[in-house]
Formats: sequence, structure tokens, C-alpha cells
Amino acid sequence: MQLKQDFFEQLSGFYSQVFPLGISNPHWLAWSQDAANLIAIEKPSDALLQGLSGNAQIADASYYAQVYSGHQFGGYSPQLGDGRSIILGEAIGPQGAWDVALKGGGPTPYSRHGDGRAVMRSAVREFLISEALHQLHVPTTRALAVIGSDLPVWRETQETAAITVRLAKSHIRFGHFEFFCHSERGAPDKLKQLVNFTIKQHYPDLSCDAAGYKAWFTQVVRDTAKMIAHWQAIGFAHGVMNTDNMSILGDSFDFGPFAFLDTFKEDFICNHSDPEGRYAFSQQPGIGLWNLQRLAQALAPIIASDDLIAALNQYQVELVQQYLRLMRAKLGMAVSPAKATSPEAESNKGLTDTELDNSDLELIGGFTMLMEGNHLDYTNSLRSFGQLDPHTKHSSLRDDFIDVNGFDNWFEAYQKRLGHIHDVEQWQGQRNSVNPKYILRNYLAQEAIVAVEEGNLTPLHELQQVLQKPFDEQPEFDDFAKRPPDWGQGLIMSCSS
Ligand code: AMP
Ligand code: MG
Ligand code: MG
Repeated sequence: MQLKQDFFEQLSGFYSQVFPLGISNPHWLAWSQDAANLIAIEKPSDALLQGLSGNAQIADASYYAQVYSGHQFGGYSPQLGDGRSIILGEAIGPQGAWDVALKGGGPTPYSRHGDGRAVMRSAVREFLISEALHQLHVPTTRALAVIGSDLPVWRETQETAAITVRLAKSHIRFGHFEFFCHSERGAPDKLKQLVNFTIKQHYPDLSCDAAGYKAWFTQVVRDTAKMIAHWQAIGFAHGVMNTDNMSILGDSFDFGPFAFLDTFKEDFICNHSDPEGRYAFSQQPGIGLWNLQRLAQALAPIIASDDLIAALNQYQVELVQQYLRLMRAKLGMAVSPAKATSPEAESNKGLTDTELDNSDLELIGGFTMLMEGNHLDYTNSLRSFGQLDPHTKHSSLRDDFIDVNGFDNWFEAYQKRLGHIHDVEQWQGQRNSVNPKYILRNYLAQEAIVAVEEGNLTPLHELQQVLQKPFDEQPEFDDFAKRPPDWGQGLIMSCSS
């Protein structure tokens, strides 16, 4: 692993140096070769295991915890930081550099009352979801490995510590800017220094002046909107969208009590510590904007308010366009029905883009409402479009509905929107390439974790394997595509990790 130290060398005062404590009996619980390739690691080795567990020093590593603040569940926490994540530096890979962080590596000056450790179940969940979201084409941080240990840690009961080795293009969060926006913490100079660093590292085409700042913040707004559109389209609830968990690059980040929807439920809450549903599935788009507004406030000392507002105004437009793009692909609705030649699609020809967007949003919303009313599984219902012949009413999808009339009414409007499909097989194949068969259902993660506790790594490795090709039929793993058993329906996870 070849490391450079841009953050450490250029941003002193933005972190504390801290060394990992080491851990007893480290062993690989999981390894992602796909992530390893990003930083040119050919295979796991004993030396790497010792280094990443914190038991041996890694050459060129700097070991630091970043400082930030953030809005947590709506309230401002002025003093946060990496409480259990130690960054080694930026590993150089064939397509750019990746921060390498040991999540659960030991206490830091920001641990407050925490022990700086992560329990195995949360380390495994972070590993699985990072790699799974990537395969679903959702922007996300990555995970190289999970290292298990013998170290006991206390949560509600005694558990075992583990480390997730996280790779991120950047660990800079909205909360970093919130920390340095106060004059007693060096604003505006330090704030500027952080923005300039972010731009130079990640937006090399932009300049570090007023025009560049405006373009940069606009890009942050767009990237955040795009990430959230992906979450809504794939049926993913993050669970803890505090501003200290929002990556400045619009990558899904800092996973805790996340969940994919099983049965579609618009207001699904996955976080046990969120009874009011601030971070419910349906709230994510609004919270994304709220978080960007907090970021804009933090940037106000160095970016003109008109520029900040103009950028924020792009959020909703971008989110809707990205969501439409993703959902049209999932449902097989061509972007431009004006190009369709069939008489059925003829009626769409006269629509303006906005009218078409609105009627498509209605069609999409109509389908999710039907799913909710019929208690259908989000992922599996969309996957059924890969077997659908849009010209015929009868399908396995229709058979899933209790309210068949409701479905038929919707389907009629949908057929009209689609028009004639020339090559149905090709159309179905395209649906399967965007509607995954396999997602990380909470009950699957739970089963894998229980097996790890019993010393059996096979279910974890099988789950990892199946999630690497979420769009492919993998008949030997068909069980992984099943709806959850009764005990695994709508599991709500605790934040304790
Ligand atoms: P999270 O909900 O994972 O984003 O965590 C919120 C904050 O609590 C972060 O600043 C973490 O670094 C910190 N934290 C969470 N768990 C621990 C722990 N076991 N030890 C120290 N700090 C922790
Ligand atoms: Mg966090
Ligand atoms: Mg965290």
C-alpha cells in the first residue's frame, strides 16, 4: 500500500494524531478484492493484517482522527470528530487516491465516553452495505475488509470488537465546514483553507475564487441530490442523516441502522433511536436539502448568499430529474415518447417536457402507492418487470396484487405511456439490468452475523458473493432473493455500534 499524506500535511489543525491501540488475535472476517484493486493491493497478507489491525506500524501512515461538528437529529453538536476511526492517509491507486480508515481502531481525542471500538455486527454491516451499494451503482464509500478479534466490548451485552477498513475518496463531511465556520475557530481563513483543499483535491477544474466557490457548492448540491435520488429509487434508508454523516462528495457514508425496504412502506423508519421518523424513507429528500442549508449557512462567511441560494434552488430540480431518470429506466419508460411511432404513444406527443415529467411522476407514484396498499416487496415487484410483456395484461406481477382492479387501472395508463415495444425480450433484459434481484436485506445480514458469532463465515461470504452481482440470476442463491421470514420483516436496528 503506497500512501500519501495530503490532508495530514496541508491541514494541520484539522485533526489530532492518534495511534491505534492494536487488537488481540486479529483475523480476516471478510475481504473485498474489488476494493483492494482500487488501491493496488493484490491479495490479503499477514503483514497487512497486522498493520490494519493496528498491531504493527504501516510504513508512511500518519494515523489521525479528523475534527468536525454537525447537526444531529436537528440539534447542533459543536464538538464532534472521529471517535472510533483512525485514518492512515491516502492510498494511491490506478484511478486516484483513497483515504484508508480503521473504523473501530481504538479511542481518539474525540471518543467522548465511547471506547473507540466497533462491534462485529456493525463492522460486518458497514462492509456489506458499502460493497453492495457500489455494485448497485449508488455513489458510496467502500470497504476493503473486516478484521475480527478476541477483544471483548460492552454494549447492551458483551460483544466482540472488529475493525472495518473503510476506503473513501474523502472523509470530509458537511460537519467539517460547520466546525470551522466560527470566528473563534479560525473562520474565515481556516474555512477558506478547507474549501480550497477540497476543491484542489476533488474538483481540479474549478478555481479557488468566488466563481469557483459558487460552481463548487452547486456541484455539492447536485451530487447530494443525485445520491438521494439513488436511495429513493433503490429503496434504501440511511437511518442517520446527521450532517456529520454527509460526505462532501455525495457518497453514501457512515452506515449504522440502515435498511433496504422489504415491503414497500413510504414512511418506513429503520432507526430504533428515531421514533418520530425524522430520517424515515420518505423524509430523505427533504432532509438532504435541510442538511445542504446547514452547509450553506456554514459557508456564508466566504460565499455570497445569492450564490448559495441559487445553488440550493437547483436541489429539487436535480433530485427530481435524477429520480425520474432512474425510475423511468426501472419501469421501462422511454425518455422521449415523442420518438415513439405507435398510435398508443401518440397521445404523449403533444406534452411538454414538464408535463411529461409530471405525468410520469404520477405514474411512478401510482405504482409505489399500489405496492404499499398491497403489501408488496419493493425489490421483487420491480424485478418482475423483467418478466413482463407490456402488451399483455396478465403477468406474474399482476398475480401478486390483491387489488387487481387497482393494478389493471394503473397498467392501462402505463401501457398507454409505453406504446408499442418492438423487442420485448430486449426490453425485459434492460429491466433486469437496472432492477436488482439481490439486495442486502436486514434479515440476511442478521443471519450472516449470527453465523459469524458461531464461528461460521460461509453465510457471510456467500452473501458478499451474491451481492457482487445483484442484477444477475444466480439460481444457486435464489434463497437470498426471498422476502424476509416473519421475524425479519421491517427489522429496526439500534444505533449502538
Ligand atoms: P455515528 O452515529 O456512527 O455517526 O456516530 C456519531 C458519533 O459518535 C461519531 O462522532 C462517532 O465517532 C462517535 N462514536 C460512535 N461510536 C463510538 C464509540 N464506540 N467510541 C467512540 N466514539 C463513538
Ligand atoms: Mg458518523
Ligand atoms: Mg459513525
